[in-house]
Parts: sequence; structure tokens; C-alpha cells
Amino acid sequence: MSADGEVYLVGAGPGDPRLITVKGLELLRQADVIVYDYLAGEELLKEVKKGAELIDVGKKGGCHKVKQDGINDIIVAKAKEGKKVVRLKGGDPFMFGRGGEEAEELRKHGVAVHVVPGVTSAIAAPALAGVPVTHRDHASFVTFVTGHESDSKEEDIIDWKGLAQLGGTIVILMGMGHLEKNMGSLIDGGLDPSTPVAVVHRGSTPAQRSAVGTASDIAARCREQNISSPAVVVVGSVARLKDVLGDLR
Ligand code: SAH
Repeated sequence: MSADGEVYLVGAGPGDPRLITVKGLELLRQADVIVYDYLAGEELLKEVKKGAELIDVGKKGGCHKVKQDGINDIIVAKAKEGKKVVRLKGGDPFMFGRGGEEAEELRKHGVAVHVVPGVTSAIAAPALAGVPVTHRDHASFVTFVTGHESDSKEEDIIDWKGLAQLGGTIVILMGMGHLEKNMGSLIDGGLDPSTPVAVVHRGSTPAQRSAVGTASDIAARCREQNISSPAVVVVGSVARLKDVLGDLR
């Protein structure tokens, strides 16, 4: 029996393959097995060594080719075979990527696990579209929240009213499915309907596009401009800076 292998939860960055970290790329080149999903930058897969096993567990808008339990089983089994496994995840592994759950599962099975943080789309996509999520004149804090687009049956556990009253910048991931509803909840909770909102689709990739509007009209603008998931929604006066800064890609 070979010794147990190990698993690296590696952030692939937001899409531009050059936005993976140096450490992440080194590990990707050495790995025996790469378990990746839809948002993890296909270009990067060209970097793997000859003979490496590529496993696509493709998560797309909540429709998983392989369910989370299955993903956990695969990475545990491959590590137990003595393999060096890279679990390549879009953006940062611990930002709404269920990376935390995967790490827990690996620990539970006594498998060595490491994380290599990545450039999260939550900050990078707005940045590349000219929206800094904090700015001395606009927002000194930022809240990251899921719009739950993939889990429509789940009860809405986000306190939109609380968020509306909190101020600062609100960054919504997985926010396109319920954009109109969530903007409505923020407005009902007291958010000024004229609050600037920017939406950035596929930030950092050649397909990057964005829309700007207000909390009351952003959903309509996205519909008009055909801007859909995957996208990051930024609510707050920082979104106005896009007009000044323009595209920063
Ligand atoms: N761990 C990832 C997020 C996974 S959740 C990260 O840190 O980026 C998936 C959501 O991320 C998508 O629904 C979308 O809101 C956002 N997303 C991922 N890549 C994106 C990109 N290139 N541009 C805009 N949004 C992106």
C-alpha cells in the first residue's frame, strides 16, 4: 500500500488563467489528479503534467454534474490511493465555493489537506470593471452575500433588511437568478431605490461585460443588455466610480 496522498484546494482565480497564484500553478503542474469545476478556468488545464488524471465535476448554476458528496468521495479516494490531488476551484476556494466543507470532509477521513487561496471574483470582477469595493469617500466596509440563485427552494435566510440598513458596499454572488427579488427586498428594507448598482458578468475574461443602474432598475437593465450569470452584483455608491474609472482590465 502506498502512503496517503494529499489534497490541495487551489483557487483558480476569476477566469483569466494568469490570475491563478504562482503556488497554485506550481501545484497544478505537479498534480497526479485534478478535480475541477465549471468556473475554474479551462485554459489552466493545459498546464497539467502528462498522464495526469482530469476529473470534471462541473458545477454550473447549482446543477452539479457530480453532487457534493460525490466530489468529496472522489477526492478522499484519490488521496487514499496515494495521489497528489489538486481540487481546482473558481475564484477563492473558501468564498462560497464549499471549499470549507471539502476541507472538513478530508480532515474527517484523516487526509492531509492544504488551501491555496485564490483571487476571488467577488473583489476582482468589480475591480476589473472599474468598481473598487471599498473607497475612503464611499464605503469603509463590504459585505459578501449569496443571492441563492441555485437554491430557489431554500428559505431566504439572508437578512436583506438588516443589510439595507447596514450601509457599506454589498457584493452579491450567485445573484442573477433572484436579482429583481433581492433588490426589492433591499428597497423594502429601507435601501434608497436610487442607490447605484453595478453588475459584472464574467469578469477578467474576454467575455467580461457589465451594466450599471440603480437598485430599482438594474434588473431591467441586465435583461435589456442580456447580462446573466455568472456575475457579481455590487450595491452601493462605489458602483458610481465605474463612470469615472471605466474598464480597468
Ligand atoms: N469561489 C468563487 C465563487 C463561487 S460562487 C470565487 O471566489 O469567485 C459562483 C459565483 O461566483 C457566480 O454565481 C458569480 O456570482 C461569481 N463569479 C465567479 N466567477 C465570476 C466571474 N468571472 N465574473 C463574475 N462573477 C463570477
